Amino acid sequence: MLIHNESMGKHCSFRTGGVAQDFFIPETLNGLSQFLKTNQKSILMLGLGSNLLVRERGFDGVVIKLKNLNQLEIDDRIIVAGAGTTLAKLSRFCDSKGLNGAEFLSAIPGNIGGALAMNAGAFGSEIWQFVDSVTTINTKGLVFERSSTDFNISYRQVLANNNHEYFVAARFKFEKIKKQKNIKVLLRQRNASQPVGEANCGSVFKNPKDHYAAELIEDSHLKGFCIGGACVSDKHANFIINKNKASASDIEKLIVHIQQTVKSKFDISLETEVVII
Ligand SMILES: Cc1cc2nc3c(=O)[nH]c(=O)nc-3n(C[C@H](O)[C@H](O)[C@H](O)COP(=O)(O)OP(=O)(O)OC[C@H]3O[C@@H](n4cnc5c(N)ncnc54)[C@H](O)[C@@H]3O)c2cc1C
Repeated sequence: MLIHNESMGKHCSFRTGGVAQDFFIPETLNGLSQFLKTNQKSILMLGLGSNLLVRERGFDGVVIKLKNLNQLEIDDRIIVAGAGTTLAKLSRFCDSKGLNGAEFLSAIPGNIGGALAMNAGAFGSEIWQFVDSVTTINTKGLVFERSSTDFNISYRQVLANNNHEYFVAARFKFEKIKKQKNIKVLLRQRNASQPVGEANCGSVFKNPKDHYAAELIEDSHLKGFCIGGACVSDKHANFIINKNKASASDIEKLIVHIQQTVKSKFDISLETEVVII
């Protein structure tokens, strides 16, 4: 399905953002491949939009949403999941099959593609720890099998040795060991510390070495500080919430204000985790 002039506010958890010129939802991997073979426009791959801020001027290209590439299969301890599978679904699936290690994913509102691109993590685990191999597609529609050694993986960052490839599926290996973490307990912990029910993108900044971004922002007395409709959460200082019809530029101005304040107070530069388009 190809549509035009799609508001990205509908697709991003900040519930605001500019317009995408084209918006494509392939039904199958083959459909995606055919589309890419003739596509000339720049591409923005979209997961659940839970870590994206699209500026008001929008995206002058095609946004591709892989929600239909959502197969989920198991062969012994190996799970094959399409890029459009949600992390919550993968986590529950592993739980139901007696496989352990994926519990932390239940707390992250993304899908496999977005989580692989971000090396999403929580509660001391990161998604790439469990990756056996990934399937990628390039801008010309060619499909590749890649191992994790084809990527340079670090905290919330994944650099590909082969540029301009996107994740379409992954093979995960989980253990059949005794359960370490309980999904319900993790979700309760999450809900107690995060502004649940308010539009946000999770942690806005990466934790700098030896520091917590949230602590630096709180110690800068910025909790509750707002620009336009965008505010620093009272509950978690590393979260910005869209409190009152914030524009993408309200949010970006607040991001810059936080960076400048923390820099002048602690001489520490905060790097954004949220991807700004
Ligand atoms: C309430 C809340 C809590 C959160 N908690 C956490 C947390 O604990 N830990 C954590 O790590 N994150 C957290 N996040 C941030 C976010 O959920 C993760 O970064 C998640 O992995 C993003 O996945 P997504 O599918 O929404 O990706 P998107 O936001 O749609 O995209 C993120 C980036 O990935 C790229 N991308 C998307 N799909 C693909 C693909 N198939 N191939 C290549 N690139 C792709 C996009 O172009 C973009 O650059 C939280 C967010 C929210 C709203």
